[in-house]
Amino acid sequence: MKFRVIFTLDYEIHGNGHGSPRKLMVEPTERMLALFDRYGARLTVMADVAEILRFERHLDETGRDLFDYQAIRNQLRKAVRSGHDVQLHLHPSYYGSRFVGGHLEQNFAEYDLARLPPERLDQIVSQGKTWLEDLLRAEEPGYSCIAFRAANWSMNPAQGIVKALVDNGISIDTSVFKYGTRNGMVSFDYSGAHSDLVPWPVKSDDVCRRDPQSRLFEFPIYCERRPIWHFLTANRVYRAVVGRLNPLPKEDFEPSPPASAGNGAGAWRITGRLKRLRDLVLGRHAWKLDFNQCSGRQLIAAVERIRKRHGQAASDLPIVLIGHSKIFTGVNERSLEPFLGFLAGAGDSFAFGTFRDFALERFASEPV
Ligand SMILES: [Zn+2]
Repeated sequence: MKFRVIFTLDYEIHGNGHGSPRKLMVEPTERMLALFDRYGARLTVMADVAEILRFERHLDETGRDLFDYQAIRNQLRKAVRSGHDVQLHLHPSYYGSRFVGGHLEQNFAEYDLARLPPERLDQIVSQGKTWLEDLLRAEEPGYSCIAFRAANWSMNPAQGIVKALVDNGISIDTSVFKYGTRNGMVSFDYSGAHSDLVPWPVKSDDVCRRDPQSRLFEFPIYCERRPIWHFLTANRVYRAVVGRLNPLPKEDFEPSPPASAGNGAGAWRITGRLKRLRDLVLGRHAWKLDFNQCSGRQLIAAVERIRKRHGQAASDLPIVLIGHSKIFTGVNERSLEPFLGFLAGAGDSFAFGTFRDFALERFASEPV
């Protein structure tokens, strides 16, 4: 057996609608494709079609290609032409966004994908898949949009989105990462996910659980629980700074004191903060296999751990990594290179792969 390493790249500007698509999408992805080509590696671009369609609308309405819509189309076509893959990512808050002060002010009523009405989900998934297939079949007639990632990984409650994906012929979701939890502008708890690595057919009302009859398969982003100091890489600090400079409303979520705290509300807050600090330092946290934020050494060590744990599997398994074009810096380029070199030289165990490499039925029947 081999591990097929799938590099998924979220292709988008900042979540608050700020930033230049040329600087955050087109240019870094160009450098990344060149780097991957040097190692015979394959990239899977998860294109946020919601924002790309909004960029197109701006061009239609103003006659100005301020958001580089044409360059984005050309880049996606070039990626497919040169053996990489492009699949669907959606940030629905772009659809109703308004162009104000040089950027796209998000429609926060549609921020949480999983909580959109079923008919709305069906509409946007269908539109996104059709757009990709119309664009990319001109390049490669056999192209099909088969995989999806939700905005902010938000897949639960699952009823609406799972049905929309299945009804539109999308057979893979790659949003879940085991141990991941959020409680804010989106809310989910993936700590009970079926696996950190092995795909499973998802239950229609809960993406974390398995249903052998399902036609949608979860390919989880590989994740481990690690102590906080594993998160201290140069690239991750860069990402944190960029995030601070491009904030979302209500992003800093701090619970309010209960009425019973009365005059002790200040003390209640301080106790809460100390407890969170203790959990941060002493606890273990969801550490996604992120090829823009982990160091090359961390990535190599992680796939070695995976080989030890899963190397006896009967047939090929995916290792799904996540990255973001907007944080692909020169530092990151240098830290990623040893990992690509390691994989290229370990062909007995690892191969560069895409979602198209797998016959999905075996994940329904095989015990895992
Ligand atoms: Zn995204």
